Amino acid sequence: MKKPKRLSGFNELAEDKLNITAHGCDYECRYCFNTSICIWARGLKPADIGVTVIDPEKLDILIDRKGDTAIYPNTHDITPEHLESHLFFIGKLLAVYPHVTVISKPNLICIRAICQAFPDHKDKLTFLFTIGTVDDKVREFWERKAPSIPERVECLKLAHDLGYKTSVISEPLLDEVPDGILQMVKPYVTDVIWIGKGKMMMQRVSCNGYKDAETKARVKQLDAWHSKANLEIIYQRLKGDSQIRWKETIQKIIGLEGPK
Ligand code: SF4
Repeated sequence: MKKPKRLSGFNELAEDKLNITAHGCDYECRYCFNTSICIWARGLKPADIGVTVIDPEKLDILIDRKGDTAIYPNTHDITPEHLESHLFFIGKLLAVYPHVTVISKPNLICIRAICQAFPDHKDKLTFLFTIGTVDDKVREFWERKAPSIPERVECLKLAHDLGYKTSVISEPLLDEVPDGILQMVKPYVTDVIWIGKGKMMMQRVSCNGYKDAETKARVKQLDAWHSKANLEIIYQRLKGDSQIRWKETIQKIIGLEGPK
């Protein structure tokens, strides 16, 4: 029998992936896959894509549901500047889908507003917050303009305490091991914690305009930390944890068939 195709990226997280932008994201993460695509495939300049540009047509689109779960947003984040548009679009998704996952490097103003806007949808809405490190200095290097790690944990706690479903994704994992992140977030996670390795990091940072020695050295450090041998040690130590899901970026290296 033919093996089922291994899912990757956002496809592992939901069937339908949606966004409301033409291009750009305020957070300017060095490793951003979407920035690389905009530069490499669409010919945009790194300097042009540091600002979120909303596409009114996407905002107004009639949603064509294909699966049961939608993830939003897959090419940008949720920032206060466009909060009304995000709330409007999340409301549209909740009207159509049985499950909606809001993924974010979360900003407290935005998460509070989303929680306040959809109290009747706690059964449908899951927050999935990206936290790749425990160290805010590491975050500042890789995700310069994104919310701090303490702010993200505060968002997680807020959504959790208000009764929403919560999960965390550590991809790319920016620390040597995920143990510190697990310890930090577990009290506030009701669902799963995804762990993944950065993909094509050297090509991406270079494409995104970060060709300096420090960025290259840090990518090499991540590659060494997350070698096959080291990932196997991490996996063996944590495989009994029922909340952990291993992303395709790790499954492939250590020979897992799926996320568990
Ligand atoms: S938050 Fe996501 S979309 Fe925005 S720059 Fe970072 S990786 Fe890219």
